[in-house]
Amino acid sequence: MSDPAPLPLVNPLPPGGTHETDVIIVGAGPVGLFAAFELGLLDLKAHIIDVLDKPGGQCAELYPEKPIYDIPGLPVVSGQELTDRLLEQIKPFHPSFHFGEMVEQLHRLDDGRFKIVSELGTEITAPVVVLAAGGGSFVPRKPKLPDLEQYEGKSLFYAVRKMEQFRDKNIVIAGGGDSALDWVLNLHPIAKSITLNHRRDDFRAAPHSVAKMRELVAAGKLRLDISDIKALKGADGQLSHVVVENKADGRYEIEADTLLAFYGLTMKLGPIANFGINMNENLIPVDVATFQTSEAGIFAIGDINTYPGKLKLILCGFHEGALMAQAAFKIARPGQRLVFLYTTSSSDLQKKLGVA
Ligand SMILES: Cc1cc2nc3c(=O)[nH]c(=O)nc-3n(C[C@H](O)[C@H](O)[C@H](O)COP(=O)(O)OP(=O)(O)OC[C@H]3O[C@@H](n4cnc5c(N)ncnc54)[C@H](O)[C@@H]3O)c2cc1C
Repeated sequence: MSDPAPLPLVNPLPPGGTHETDVIIVGAGPVGLFAAFELGLLDLKAHIIDVLDKPGGQCAELYPEKPIYDIPGLPVVSGQELTDRLLEQIKPFHPSFHFGEMVEQLHRLDDGRFKIVSELGTEITAPVVVLAAGGGSFVPRKPKLPDLEQYEGKSLFYAVRKMEQFRDKNIVIAGGGDSALDWVLNLHPIAKSITLNHRRDDFRAAPHSVAKMRELVAAGKLRLDISDIKALKGADGQLSHVVVENKADGRYEIEADTLLAFYGLTMKLGPIANFGINMNENLIPVDVATFQTSEAGIFAIGDINTYPGKLKLILCGFHEGALMAQAAFKIARPGQRLVFLYTTSSSDLQKKLGVA
């Protein structure tokens, strides 16, 4: 079985390699996505990079099914639907996407441009960087177990980057949400064995995934284990057993060479704090005419920025993206004249949007 099909409207680039573009957008939340639209209207190309494996930021990760009632022109829209609509809207500009990659470094080059480097070695160079990093990067919640570090990245993982890595493995998948259940269902055809571990027999995941999981358990294709994980056993980072405990059976061991732990995500500012930009209590102060930070050429829009009167609302982030794009144009296209145009009446903009 091959890896899951690419998301609709998004064809992410593989990690690694070097890229050059007009604008690097760090963060594929709603604000980062809409920024690609405003930049696209001005003919500026963008690469968007996010540590999550999908676009949408908080909307897609924290509340995909919750209704939002304060997006102008959309009386009610779910977090996921808003994300999908934004992807549809920016499609004419073909932004390049990089997912599952934390931006770890930001350097200014001798020629004045910037280079960002991701944890997976992707390098992107551009004259403008837009930080649309929200409350920071989503990082996995880790189980509180002794000696966790020795297994991390060797036989304990918090995400699946390549399904093939787990072929013929004896896997314990821990968690009760969508990630745990989705990976149980995706990996069971290629794994040697899968045990789904959760602390209670009640799952937050989508009901159809839970029903499928229960079918597999009933058919003997999957083991369901209701217990708390207490320790990991193994040597040199290679797991051999997961030690668990519950009231009925006491403490016992599950044989496993791989543990996939899906206990949800938390938000941490992460590497942005080390980018050399002025910060104020984990937020980035900006000039409200341009949304530029203390560093010329680096902008901050959306939840990550702060200024007098700031509201952490999606619609405010959209406004910030529009003004940022005007200022970014002057840096990316020095000497070129910027003409203010309406999408309703400009045939030039309509051509770019593919509607004329
Ligand atoms: C439960 C809930 C309900 C909400 N309801 C509403 C509402 O009704 N209306 C409203 O307007 N707002 C609402 N909000 C707030 C709204 O979701 C945020 O204002 C919005 O998501 C901010 O968008 P953003 O693009 O700035 O940041 P985010 O959505 O936080 O996206 C930032 C992205 O940047 C990525 N990132 C950060 N650092 C890095 C890095 N170093 N490398 C790579 N990627 C990185 C993150 O992974 C993330 O995907 C709600 C929030 C929550 C939690």
